[in-house]
Amino acid sequence: MNNNLTIALSKGRIFKETLPLLKHAGIEPVDDLDTTRKLILDTNRDDVKLVIIRASDVPTYVQYGAADLGIAGKDVLMEHGGEGIYEPLDLNIARCKLMTAGFKNAEPIKGRLRVATKFVNCARHFFAEKGQQVEVIKLYGSMELAPIVGLADCIVDVVDTGNTLRANGLEPKEHIADISSRLIVNRASMKMKHERVKQFIDLMAEAVEK
Ligand code: AMP
Repeated sequence: MNNNLTIALSKGRIFKETLPLLKHAGIEPVDDLDTTRKLILDTNRDDVKLVIIRASDVPTYVQYGAADLGIAGKDVLMEHGGEGIYEPLDLNIARCKLMTAGFKNAEPIKGRLRVATKFVNCARHFFAEKGQQVEVIKLYGSMELAPIVGLADCIVDVVDTGNTLRANGLEPKEHIADISSRLIVNRASMKMKHERVKQFIDLMAEAVEK
């Protein structure tokens, strides 16, 4: 097996907040992410590549070994299930909360609660633990709209300031989990490239502590 490292991560908040950590580990992208359309970014290191993909695809790339390592939100990892993946380090970035949200003075629901979310597994698990019967409706975005148009009684979504909810007449209700981004590692890469991967994890851990 070669000793190259492929690291999967998504654009936006996670990429921005990961850059300083990567820099501490001696890795800097060569291309400007704001302008490039490349999906595989070269770095200053010949043996390190970054693949830029949708946040929810990161665990899948790492699970199947298409990337040795990845950076993914705990929300995405909980939803994926974590099969075939090690999660050795909390990077403490892109922090938010996974919560239920609904109308401020919502009447108690008679019958089954309808929950709109892209986190269907997390939502099912959360309500099952409470012993509450729910109908989970899968959406891919703009969850806040669902209660407004009567598609659902409440939503499960990630919340930071809560401004998006409030702007749509909703409020955060039940806390499901604290979220931050995690470094994840393919199980085979952890074994076969152990020294290389461990060195990278240690440097990233140092950067988090700084
Ligand atoms: P808020 O500050 O609550 O208005 O957050 C704005 C939107 O950004 C929310 O609807 C979330 O979907 C999203 N968001 C906030 N924090 C994160 C995060 N750490 N990771 C992913 N999405 C987030």
